[in-house]
Amino acid sequence: MFNSHDTIVALASARGRGSISIIRVSGKDSIDLVNQCFKDKNLTTVDGNTIHFGYIIDQEKMIDQVLVAVYKEPQSYTGENSVEITCHANPLIIDNIINILINKGARLARPGEFTFRAFMNDKMNLTQAEAVAELVSTKSLQGVRNSLRQLHGELHNRLDEILNEINDIRSMLEAVLDFPEEDETLIVKEGHISERLENIETVVQKLSDSYNHAKILSGSISVTIIGKTNVGKSTLMNAILGEDRVITSHIPGTTRDIIHEDIIIDDIHFKLIDTAGLRDSFDDIELKGIERTKAKIEISDILLWVIDHTEKWPSKLFNQIETIIKGETNKIIIVLNKSDLKTNSRLENEIKKSGISTVHTSALSGKGIQKLKSTILEKIVNESQKISDDLIITNLRQKKILDKVKLHIRQARKIIEKRGGYEFASIDLREISEIMGEISGETTTEDILDRIFSNFCIGK
Ligand code: GDP
Repeated sequence: MFNSHDTIVALASARGRGSISIIRVSGKDSIDLVNQCFKDKNLTTVDGNTIHFGYIIDQEKMIDQVLVAVYKEPQSYTGENSVEITCHANPLIIDNIINILINKGARLARPGEFTFRAFMNDKMNLTQAEAVAELVSTKSLQGVRNSLRQLHGELHNRLDEILNEINDIRSMLEAVLDFPEEDETLIVKEGHISERLENIETVVQKLSDSYNHAKILSGSISVTIIGKTNVGKSTLMNAILGEDRVITSHIPGTTRDIIHEDIIIDDIHFKLIDTAGLRDSFDDIELKGIERTKAKIEISDILLWVIDHTEKWPSKLFNQIETIIKGETNKIIIVLNKSDLKTNSRLENEIKKSGISTVHTSALSGKGIQKLKSTILEKIVNESQKISDDLIITNLRQKKILDKVKLHIRQARKIIEKRGGYEFASIDLREISEIMGEISGETTTEDILDRIFSNFCIGK
């Protein structure tokens, strides 16, 4: 785990040339260290939350003209003395300033170390720290809004409400146990304990289910192009992307491996995946590429199944794909490609029978590509509308904890419904307080914290 006594330094903005960059320094000696290489003003005597113009110097040599923001503990991001140096965005200048500070006694920060310090100094809880990482990595505007709500403490407050209700019920149960002369069952019944637990279970379940929407916010919805060789999969991928990214050829089997590119349709980020061509069926598969295609089909959110409009309905392949996706045929969009050629009308009838949404395209001319993009959007737009107003959880760690909480609530409810063993129900509810502390970071173990913060970037 991190040593929280050192003064740490790192570039907080993206690396590269540009107009300005920000170098962050935090720790008890941060103001003093920057002051040692700052010309024109004594930073150790200035107020917190102030900005100062001057020069960074090293042994009388000028390094850069900068603005320095000084923050005094506890009024800073990390909760400790901190300085942000806004310098010109040239990697040579940035490295120079960081090295000067390291020579004066600072240490290069590890990934997430600034936010870890903010967490340790009670500037934020764990869900808020996680929101900081998600705010930067999310690939949709909804994701940004959701992370901001979490950063603002909304998730923490929602969890607090759940915990308060649990604690309330628990104290009621314990009171019943403390006064055995009363009619326990009647008190529990009149307190509507079972109904209250059922309500909380629904709230927890809804929050846990909201993780399913996290993919939309994180931009990791996968759209996989599948189909027999030579039906036009790679040409279609290029047409969707709008530029030639994949080599196409009339020789079957050119796209041997998995190729993927990111696309944005109406602010939603998708991962578009091209796969190795399939045969009429998955029988006698020996090619590794086809095995990989099968695996992609299994985990894909949307399948673009490209069929050559001049060919016949591949019924065996359809049955096999249906088995792989466990009957979720609403994931499939059939792309009837090469519709510029003479088409097979019997094929259309077969597709109608399957009830799967179909788009006609000519990947070669670009006809039908816009329609295809809007059909892809329609497949997920209902989901994304559903989440627009609701707070959602965006990481698996939070989901797993909520699922454990749900289990204990259910167990407690079952005991109560059987009218007996209230002390056991109370144990379940007590367990929940412990588990919920893991979400906010109150009872999270060091190795879990280590894992969470090591996923952050340096400088964050
Ligand atoms: P893949 O093996 O499924 O990836 O197929 P390719 O994208 O490599 O295309 C195979 C051949 O079909 C190439 O010669 C393409 O130019 C041609 N092709 C692809 N799409 C169309 C289309 O919509 N109409 C016509 N006429 N030919 C196409």
